[in-house]
Amino acid sequence: MESKECELLLARHGIKPTANRVVILRTLAAGRRPMSMRELEMEIFSIDKSNIFRALALFRTRHLVHVIEDGDGGTRYELCYSRDEDNDEDEHMHFFCECCHRTFCLHDLHAPEVSLPDGYRLHSVNCLIKGICPTCTGKREADKR
Ligand SMILES: [Zn+2]
Ligand SMILES: [Zn+2]
Repeated sequence: MESKECELLLARHGIKPTANRVVILRTLAAGRRPMSMRELEMEIFSIDKSNIFRALALFRTRHLVHVIEDGDGGTRYELCYSRDEDNDEDEHMHFFCECCHRTFCLHDLHAPEVSLPDGYRLHSVNCLIKGICPTCTGKREADKR
């Protein structure tokens, strides 16, 4: 993602586009898969951990990132590409591979509609499927031969 594009995206979410925020946003955009804090730290050397964390918290409040739980009990961050904050069309399911421990976006699969009992208010749905990814399935098949 170009710097200019990052700045526009930040501005659209009401976030002041500082140099650090642009770097963090670009890293998330380049990641292709939801990234953990550790992965972000390993990609971004120029910004310290607490500042990355603070920027992510801000992105989260402004609905610029989705925060998801992965199958290892960790937290991952991904950019939200929805153009409408109130009706998120980018909410999708995730797939956790129990073999390589990577988390994938299933962009075409949306979380099922849920009707909650009285008194419960829904904020977000975290839908994670666990299994084996195509790469690992391929390796397993090859090992059998
Ligand atoms: Zn895998
Ligand atoms: Zn995703």
